[in-house]
Amino acid sequence: MRYSVDYKSSLKSRHWRKLRRRVLRRDHYECRGCGRSSSILDLQVHHITYKLNAELRSELITFYPICHRRIHEAAEIINVI
Ligand SMILES: [Zn+2]
Repeated sequence: MRYSVDYKSSLKSRHWRKLRRRVLRRDHYECRGCGRSSSILDLQVHHITYKLNAELRSELITFYPICHRRIHEAAEIINVI
């Protein structure tokens, strides 16, 4: 997936940092794909939808980087088909 400049800068915003921490806490710092628990720095928060600065917590999921990448790869395959 190609990210826009807006998306990249929104990931640095205070709003996003706060929201990200809340999602990680809600998911008990565990990947929702494989269940691996990890540090707050390693985990990533996946966007189900991209409503920049208006994300709902229910549309965000905690993933370990490997699982996060798999989700995006799978999504790209679906888009190709
Ligand atoms: Zn995982």
